Amino acid sequence: MVRRGLRRRAARPRLTQGATAMAMQIDASTCTACGACEFECPTASISMKGDIYIIKASSCTECDGDPAKCVAVCPVDDCITQV
Ligand code: SF4
Ligand code: SF4
Repeated sequence: MVRRGLRRRAARPRLTQGATAMAMQIDASTCTACGACEFECPTASISMKGDIYIIKASSCTECDGDPAKCVAVCPVDDCITQV
């Protein structure tokens, strides 16, 4: 039977029991709010909230195993780290 009107959803990765989400976080106490990381993120996960930059953990992919682009451009050592 063919069902009409149903749209296929794009496959999304699911967390399995025991798995942890991958994400980076910004240390607000050392971030200078220079904005360099925002434009490097391939998933648009970095944005300004108030006067600080934050990383949206639900969309950060840690650059899929490549060196994190946000970390590479951040001028402050250890400002961006893994959650
Ligand atoms: S690790 Fe990659 S995907 Fe995650 S915030 Fe940094 S640049 Fe974006
Ligand atoms: S590049 Fe580093 S210092 Fe600049 S806004 Fe991003 S986290 Fe903050």
